[in-house]
Amino acid sequence: MSCLFCRIAAGEIPATVVFEDDDLMAFEDINPQAPMHVLVIPRAHISTVNDLAPGHDVLVGAMVRRAGLLAAERGYAGSGYRTVFNCNADAGQTVFHLHLHVLGGRTLAWPPG
Ligand code: AMP
Ligand code: ZN
Repeated sequence: MSCLFCRIAAGEIPATVVFEDDDLMAFEDINPQAPMHVLVIPRAHISTVNDLAPGHDVLVGAMVRRAGLLAAERGYAGSGYRTVFNCNADAGQTVFHLHLHVLGGRTLAWPPG
């Protein structure tokens, strides 16, 4: 298995896991860009947002909802936080296993760079 996040999901590569269930995993980003920087991933391999099919709708909904719950756990529900899916080169995607960034704990600039 060559995909980095598939290997994290399988427990082959260590990560600081903050949530897991049968379908999802969430872990701390190794290079955090904010006081909270968590990645929410599906256990199943999906490369990019472009590869989502109608059958993934419930899964992606669960990812987004989990992002909100994790941000709320850390006290950012009211102050705010950002959820981001980067897709392909222009967005700077570097890991081609779907992941939702959850960033919080500081003011985040808009528009993003
Ligand atoms: P993206 O640029 O959207 O593809 O984001 C990939 C993210 O994965 C980056 O924020 C990296 O810091 C993060 N990352 C890469 N390797 C690891 C790892 N082994 N554990 C946790 N996060 C990682
Ligand atoms: Zn994968």
